[in-house]
Amino acid sequence: MPRCPKCGSTKVRKVEDKTKIVAVIGHTPRYKTYYICGNCTYQWDPEEQKSTE
Ligand SMILES: [Zn+2]
Repeated sequence: MPRCPKCGSTKVRKVEDKTKIVAVIGHTPRYKTYYICGNCTYQWDPEEQKSTE
């Protein structure tokens, strides 16, 4: 699980923004995803950071 870049908390949630489709793979749309910190409510885009996914 990633950490909040602002407060360092690991209480983060991954959220899909279903109003923003970034790609369609086969017939499955891929939505824009972002994280919300459960501690300080900071939101950020995981694609701006290095991911191991
Ligand atoms: Zn935070």
